[in-house]
Amino acid sequence: MTPVFRFAPSPTGLLHLGHAASAAAVWRAAKAAGGRLLLRIEDIDPVRSKPEFAAAIEDDLAWLGFSWDGPVVRQSERLDLYAAALAKLDTRGLLYSCRLSRTDIAAAAAPDAARDPDGAVRLPLAGARPSDPDGPVARRLHMAKALATLDGEPLTWWEEGVGAIEAQPERWGDVVLARKETPTSYHLAVVVDDAAQGVTHVVRGRDLYEATAVHRLLQRLLDLPEPAYRHHPLLMAPDGAKLSKSRGSPSLRSLREEGWSREDVLRAAGAL
Ligand code: GLU
Repeated sequence: MTPVFRFAPSPTGLLHLGHAASAAAVWRAAKAAGGRLLLRIEDIDPVRSKPEFAAAIEDDLAWLGFSWDGPVVRQSERLDLYAAALAKLDTRGLLYSCRLSRTDIAAAAAPDAARDPDGAVRLPLAGARPSDPDGPVARRLHMAKALATLDGEPLTWWEEGVGAIEAQPERWGDVVLARKETPTSYHLAVVVDDAAQGVTHVVRGRDLYEATAVHRLLQRLLDLPEPAYRHHPLLMAPDGAKLSKSRGSPSLRSLREEGWSREDVLRAAGAL
């Protein structure tokens, strides 16, 4: 069976050196395995995703010399698939509607409230009440019920180069699977698509390591196959911070305009 890899950027900005490092890690892994490589544009955020960023991503990747197999897949065109997966979980009684806003959650959270691996207050949260009972609705996974369906069976993932990792999705609490402004969430869409596209190897940044626990749980609940994972170290700014547009990391676009060559970019990304 030919291994299948994917690169799955979100078109919410221009690519920077961190993305070049990540893309290089994915392409290198796919090449070494003799695998196929798919490009998936994760454009489910209707406000932050822009078609011009998606176009720039394709252009930058091609400039870097990274080509992909088959058509580019866009998550915004696949909302029906996510809705079907959501309905499956709903039928099993594993979801609930939540109208809490960030402010409602912050108001109810004690200073020592439990937090998820991203630092957000973990739900359920005793005493939290929606300030707008008719406000927009998110759909959350009832984590305790979801874990109960595992019947004590261990939940692990295979981290390449490391081995089996025990997944602890409970650390995330009742994660959002359909957001207020869009009928899916990152966790749901990524799991549905990795399965639908036959992805066998997920190579992505270390910042998504903890999310893998939620992905493995959703794969189990939706009866989807389990890919192997490899979370590569993140390229850091000289001050040790994560590279990001908001911290002023230069885009590949601006480096290109300054006259950087493909090799200059790959070398700066630690990929040469
Ligand atoms: N779209 C995600 C991002 O750009 C990556 C998703 C993934 O690789 O699972 O951070």
